[in-house]
Formats: sequence, C-alpha cells, structure tokens
Amino acid sequence: MRRTNTCGELRSEDIGKKVCLQGWVRFSRDHGGVAFIDLADRYGITQIVFDPEDVPKGTDVNSMSNTMRGFTRESVVSISGIVRKRVEGTEDGRNPTGEVEVLITEAELLNRSRSPPFELGDQKEGVLPNEDTRMRYRYLDLRRTEVIQAMQTRSRFIHLIREYMDKNDFLEIETPILARSTPEGARDFIVPSRVHPGTFYALPQSPQLFKQMLMVGSMDRYYQIARCFRDEDSRKDRQPEFTQLDMEMSFVDMKDIQDTIEGLIAFVWKGLYGTEIKIPFRRIGYKEAMESYGSDKPDLRYGLKFVSLTETVKDAPYDIFQRILGAGGIVAGINLKADVAGERIGRNDVDRYIGQAKKFGLGGLTWMRCKDGKLDSNITKYFTPEILDNIKQKMGAEEGDLLFLIAGPWKSTYEGGGALRKKLAEDLDLIPADEMQFLWMVDCPMFEVDPVSGKYDVFHHPFVLPENDLNDKYVGGACFDLCLNGNELGSGSLRIHDPVMQREVFRKIGMDDEKIETDFGFFLEALGYGAPPHGGIALGIDRFISILLGKDTIREVIAFPKNKKAVSLLDGSPSKVDDDKLEELQIMSLSIGDIDFGGPESTDEE
Ligand code: ASP
Repeated sequence: MRRTNTCGELRSEDIGKKVCLQGWVRFSRDHGGVAFIDLADRYGITQIVFDPEDVPKGTDVNSMSNTMRGFTRESVVSISGIVRKRVEGTEDGRNPTGEVEVLITEAELLNRSRSPPFELGDQKEGVLPNEDTRMRYRYLDLRRTEVIQAMQTRSRFIHLIREYMDKNDFLEIETPILARSTPEGARDFIVPSRVHPGTFYALPQSPQLFKQMLMVGSMDRYYQIARCFRDEDSRKDRQPEFTQLDMEMSFVDMKDIQDTIEGLIAFVWKGLYGTEIKIPFRRIGYKEAMESYGSDKPDLRYGLKFVSLTETVKDAPYDIFQRILGAGGIVAGINLKADVAGERIGRNDVDRYIGQAKKFGLGGLTWMRCKDGKLDSNITKYFTPEILDNIKQKMGAEEGDLLFLIAGPWKSTYEGGGALRKKLAEDLDLIPADEMQFLWMVDCPMFEVDPVSGKYDVFHHPFVLPENDLNDKYVGGACFDLCLNGNELGSGSLRIHDPVMQREVFRKIGMDDEKIETDFGFFLEALGYGAPPHGGIALGIDRFISILLGKDTIREVIAFPKNKKAVSLLDGSPSKVDDDKLEELQIMSLSIGDIDFGGPESTDEE
C-alpha cells in the first residue's frame, strides 16, 4: 500500500476513486458493527468506514476485523478503500473533507501507539492538560490542529521574510554560534573548549558584533534568521533560546531601516492574510510614550492616557505631593470616564487597585471622583478649591468620572502607572483582541543614569550612535523600537563606526581601558579599518508570530521550547554529564542534588 492522498485532500469530486491514506487514528467509534475512524495527519482528517456488510467481493472480513482491533488511538495505520458520499445528513460542514468518507477495502497497522497521555482531538476549553505535560510529550502535542497551524504560520512567515530580503538585495549570512563572550546585557551561556582547557566560547546573545563586522567587510545588506541565546529567567515572552530576524545595512539613516522593515511587514502581511497593512507606522517619542502610556512599548489599542498634573498641583498643600515634587518627582492622572469605567469601579474596587499599585512599584494611589460637579475623595480637603478645579479641567473630568493619581520619581512612577493602565484595561475589557497597532518608539536616550549612584548605563546597547556630544547633560541615541500591541518586537539603531567614539562610550559606562581591550579590542580594531556608517535592527520572530496568532506565550510557536524553569521536559535537559567528559574538559565535577524541573505549578513572571 502506498499513500495516494493526504487526510486533508479528498472532496466530492473524488467520489468513486480508489485511494490509500496513511495517518493516525485520532478517534474511532463503533455503530452497531460499523466502525468509523477519524484518520488524521498534518493536512486534515478524513472519515474512514468499515462496514462488514458492505465490502468488496473477496475481502476477508474476519482478518480485516482483527487488524482493525489493533487500531488503538494514535496508532499509525494505512488504509485503502473507495471514496464515497457520506449518508445524507451526516456531512460535516466544518471539515473540508466532510462531504465524503472512505469505505475500507484493505487495512494495515503500521505502528501501534501506547495509550496517549492526553486527548489530541480539537479540545473544548479546559480539557487540555497543563503546559508541562504537553511539552513532556510535545511530539504528540504537535499533532493537534492548533499546533500544526502555528508551525505552518511560522514556516510561511520565515519563508516570506527570506523572499522579501532576497528581493531587496540582502545576503543571508550565518555568523558563529561559538564565539567570544562579550557583555550584551544578559548572561551568556558558556561552552568549555576541550582543545584549550580552561577557556570558553559563549553562545551569541545576538549576532551584533559579527553583523557590524560584515558591514566592515563590505557586505552592505545582511540578514539572518538567527538563533540567540540568553541565560536569563524564562518569562512569558522569553526563553533561553529564541529566533530573531537580524539585519544590518550600510550607508543608511534611521528612516531607511524603518522603511525596509515596514516594507517587509507589509509584504509578509499580504502573503499571510492577503490584505494590505497601513504603513508608515505611527511614531511616538520615548518621553511621550512614557508620560502618556506609562510604557516604552505602549499599547495604543485603548485610551486611558496619563495627563501630567505636576504643574497643576505644585502649590497644593498636600504633604505627600509636596515631598515628591520637592525631590524632582511627578504627579499624573488617568481619567476613567463614567461611561467606560467610572461607574463600574466601586469603593471596594478602588481599594483593590490601591493594593495592586504597590505591587506595580507605585508608592500609592490617590483617587478622586467627580460628584455633583466637584472632585470628591478622602484627600480633597488637602487641596484648595481652585487647585481641585484646575485638576478637574486638566483631566477633563465630568460627572461620574473616576480619577486615579500617581506620584513619585519619573521613571518608576510612569512604569508602575503603565502596569496599572494595562490592568485596568484588562479588567474593564477595553482591549480589542483583533486589532494590530504597530508603532515606532523613537527619540530615545543614549544612556540611563542611576539616580542614586549617578552611574551611566546604556539605554539599548553600547554600539548605538550617540546623537550629540557625550559630555552634554542629555545625550540622545540614534535608536528606536518596533512595538506591536504593547510588546516590543525589536530594537534597531545606527551604530558607531568610529573606534575613538566607540571607546569613549565604553568608558562612559564605566569600563576601564584594560576591560575594553580584553572584551572589545578585536572589534575596535575592525572599526579602524574603514568601517562604513551603518545600522540595523533585529525582530523577535517567536514573539511576532505568537502575537499574530493570539498566543499567550512564545512557547506555543516554538516546536520544542524550554519550560518556565528553562528545562526541556522532553529530553530532560539540562542534565548532568559523565565525569569522564568533565575530566576531558578539565572541569571539576560538583556533586549536585536533583534538578528542579518545574511543574504544573511553576508560573510565568511578568
Ligand atoms: N542586537 C540587538 C538586539 O538583539 C538588535 C540590534 O541592535 O540590531 O537587541
């Protein structure tokens, strides 16, 4: 028997044909001696019927019945038969093969499956087992329609990227997986060298330095579907290894890079959905993003914007605000309009949000409600009627509206406010699930300065081109982020191509000359041999696809992901290795206890 068709292929035009299908027994049932099987493969599901009363002449019904008794769930089987129309009234409109069925004439068990640990059919809510069980048996989980579709979308997405990049003269170039450990923000995974005991390679956190050196090497336009490795705690949208579309271009400005990415996304969109996407994307400055939405990756699918009240309340005789403003902090408010939220959030809910505000890193949460034309709350007594009126005006507060006020240091307060804004939008069901709001976050700083130690750190990474003199009070960075629905899809920038300036930036972030030389000497040297002006970006492919598919975590769009504890439950890695292997590497073996592999109770951290 040789497969003639897949399980997703047969239609009414095929009625009368003799076919052979091979696939997995997803479901079988016996209706008074007539057996029905749902035979599944990657392409679909076809109904197979075995009716002992209705078999071609010469069929050995007994032997066929015996064979079919072995057709346990998820066994892989081969069947031959005749395509026929389903009995009137039993067609399945939701299944593309649902008008026909195959009447068995021959059957063979190719490989019997053990009883699967969970149902693979299309699941109703709540029937699926927890994620760890699915990942432990991911090869079974992969057979589910939803997961098959995720893999298909991913494959198509990557194919479309390659098509577009190729059309636009980009060269696909692979960069090393074993390379030098260079600080890029996260912890490296390190790999011991056997040939040179005591030395290590690092797995790349991204191909950043190599792609820049490709520009020095005149490659002009480079891209790669690059695997990146970062040893950080797993979260919803992170895991130890992930895939980026990494690219770099020479002789460009920021707009050229952004135009290329917009063109790419429009192309991929058309390829996936057949529709046009609106470009150019909206641009929003970092300061405005933070002060309006409390986030450097704002979700624009809903309102709930913050309004600054720092000036409005600066003379209010309210101690808490005075102290905060005196220390250079801010006060801002969010207006929950009566029709959207104000009336739905009662006194108890307000207390709940006050409790949550602490979790979001806010010092507290002040509220005021607009009642009988005036702002009312437990603290309005500390404000003059004039200031209250100004707050009301500034916030556009009308009857029934509820105001939440946040106050504290600029960054942490807006960030906490952003988390509160998101929580409110979720609780009030204000987020349209099907909308896609892309935006470029622009006008970013080059450095972040620790308010306590005064220490400089880079906002993106140290290779970003500063936009003004490094000794200026504020230094802008020629960098930007692409965001979608409150998620950062990727970061890009123009790069420093002058070794002297690159060294200055390293110094600015506290590296001494010796450290610069050890970590980046080779790179500075490369910049010294005619590095062209260049820039680029990297987009997180797993994250992008998971958002498009409405998945909660990137793990759903990765064939074999690690779990929340950075463990692969499927192959049991990370694992101990034999002592002789360690000896060869001259690594001392430590006796360690059992590894905590996580489990159903392990949770994602935001
Ligand atoms: N290498 C950077 C990252 O992975 C992206 C870039 O600047 O191209 O975030």
